[in-house]
Amino acid sequence: MTNNSSPNPFPTPLYVTRPLLPDLALIQAKLQEIWDSKWLTNNGPQHDLLEKELTGTLKVPYLSLFNNGTIALIVACQSLRLSGEVITTPFTFPATPHVLTWNNVKPIFCDIDPATMNIDANRIESLITPQTTGILAVHVFGTPCDTAKIQEVADRYGLRVVYDAAHAFGVEIDDKGIGTFGDISMFSFHATKLFHTAEGGALTFNSKELKSRVDLLKNFGIKNEEEVVMPGINGKMNELQAAVGLIVLQYIEEERQKRRVLSDKYKECLKNVEGITCLENEKPGIKNSYQYFVIRINEKVFGRSRDYVYDEFKKYNIFARKYFYPLCSDYTCYRYLPSSEAGNLQVANKVSSEVLSLPFFGGLSGDDVERICRILMYIQKSD
Ligand SMILES: *Cc1c(COP(=O)(O)O)cnc(C)c1O
Repeated sequence: MTNNSSPNPFPTPLYVTRPLLPDLALIQAKLQEIWDSKWLTNNGPQHDLLEKELTGTLKVPYLSLFNNGTIALIVACQSLRLSGEVITTPFTFPATPHVLTWNNVKPIFCDIDPATMNIDANRIESLITPQTTGILAVHVFGTPCDTAKIQEVADRYGLRVVYDAAHAFGVEIDDKGIGTFGDISMFSFHATKLFHTAEGGALTFNSKELKSRVDLLKNFGIKNEEEVVMPGINGKMNELQAAVGLIVLQYIEEERQKRRVLSDKYKECLKNVEGITCLENEKPGIKNSYQYFVIRINEKVFGRSRDYVYDEFKKYNIFARKYFYPLCSDYTCYRYLPSSEAGNLQVANKVSSEVLSLPFFGGLSGDDVERICRILMYIQKSD
């Protein structure tokens, strides 16, 4: 740094993410097609085309589209008849434990791995009881869970495995789609996710039978005009959502490349800043989703707390996010659970107090990233 004068704030607010918005004319042309077809929902042509395209993009055998990721995950738990207790992570978005509650299943919180911030696969076994029916793990920030270890424990105890892959669009392990691990994976297509349909989601499966069951469950259980075979819900993706998805999908690889450059830039700018660590997102054999750019701030070494940096950033028009703070285990609806005790979740509590998601989307420039990092270093040194 050349001087001690305060850096200028950004002229307009900078958020953690911005939705990918293709040229409106492309969307309008699709809308015209939909209007001409007079078919707005219930497995229309846009829906079927998107389902087919995503099956290929995500390298999965079967995929089923939904109106949002949370309903998809609720249906996933229903379709596997999860009951009793399911082991999950407290370091996630509220939807993860909530879908268990909506299935009358008790979430059992497991501590996380400090490096990946995912459920610590080595601690799952100690939480299994006769009531345990499954594991609901999250590929947090797109980093794959220890899928081999999780499957090994699940197989040994006859448990189902569901992955919340909301952050993991396009993630691959050795060219295998992340949605092929476990019994079912859920992807969210919310506007803030890398790939989006404004609101939307999908489940992926290896089993054709499971897909058939889920397709019934998401349409009220209606098999045909004469038969309703199970108590389903309305989880259908409509034609407008699917049309947005078909167009956004064409820009995903480009967006991913832009984010990769920005991620490298952040890492370069922050590599010598003591007390700041960037989440490792380039591992051999792993294709990353570049969903978020996440740092950890070690207060003792950096000299400033995560909360201090978060507040100060706002003065510069930078709106970082504390993903994930608070832990789900600290919500009023879950903190009474024995597994929510802080002593059980020491790593999660520490990580949750140190993480910060920085602005990260294709519309950002390399100069913006440099400026954000310069502001961070100024915040560290100023009084
Ligand atoms: C976004 C998100 C969800 C919810 O998805 P919606 O499509 O918004 O319902 C669930 N889990 C995680 C980890 C998420 O980030």
